[in-house]
Amino acid sequence: MMEHVGKGFVLILSAPSGAGKSTLARLLMERGQGLLTSVSTTTRAPRPGEREGEAYFFVDEATFQERIAAGEFLEWAQVFGNHYGTSRGFVAEAVNRGRVVVLDIDWQGARQVRGNMGGEDVVSVFIMPPSRDHLCSRLQSRGQDALEVIDRRMKAASAEVSHWEEYDYTVINDDLERAGEALAAIVTAERLRRSRVALPLRGILETFGL
Ligand code: ADP
Ligand code: 5GP
Repeated sequence: MMEHVGKGFVLILSAPSGAGKSTLARLLMERGQGLLTSVSTTTRAPRPGEREGEAYFFVDEATFQERIAAGEFLEWAQVFGNHYGTSRGFVAEAVNRGRVVVLDIDWQGARQVRGNMGGEDVVSVFIMPPSRDHLCSRLQSRGQDALEVIDRRMKAASAEVSHWEEYDYTVINDDLERAGEALAAIVTAERLRRSRVALPLRGILETFGL
């Protein structure tokens, strides 16, 4: 387990649905880099196998609206006709403790997070599928969505991809392992930013009388 002595940040992952974002996020979490995932709240119905508090916290529309009104979300958006939101309290607390928190959110949410948190606290990565055809076959092979849902997600794919330039990094998810390595490298490099290692460096600098 890493020591969490440097400054924390949020790592935003966005991609068109089916690009492999959840798979990559899972691989990243398994690498033992000490990352945390933020579990979003959604009004979407659970997919088979999705458990409360793991993939999402599942709520009804009225509850979601109450939480918006109470300011509980760092960001929220409507995606494919459902609401999704990120808990402000969880993220703020974890980042303040020096943790890296992975957010799997869409471009609308990414914009809000960049606006609501200091720029230094946000690193964003756009995960790109190798092509539109790859995206379509991945959505089909996942086998969890009805045909009309897949159709809707394919129609939204170009809109999501059109925002790729708003992100700090682009990772093309052709080979899963290579894409996972690339994400891990981003985390490693971002942790070494001068602005984030100031605290652990203090003791070393003192030995040089600085
Ligand atoms: P997202 O979270 O972006 O909607 P998923 O992680 O659920 O996408 O991936 C969609 C499907 O594509 C899954 O069946 C997954 O196993 C598959 N997949 C993900 N990455 C790759 C890859 N690099 N090559 C081939 N298939 C992949
Ligand atoms: P899915 O229904 O496939 O789990 O997610 C659909 C889309 O919603 C994905 O693009 C995902 O990144 C996005 N999403 C999931 N959680 C959140 C969230 O909390 N906020 C925002 N803005 N988007 C989210």
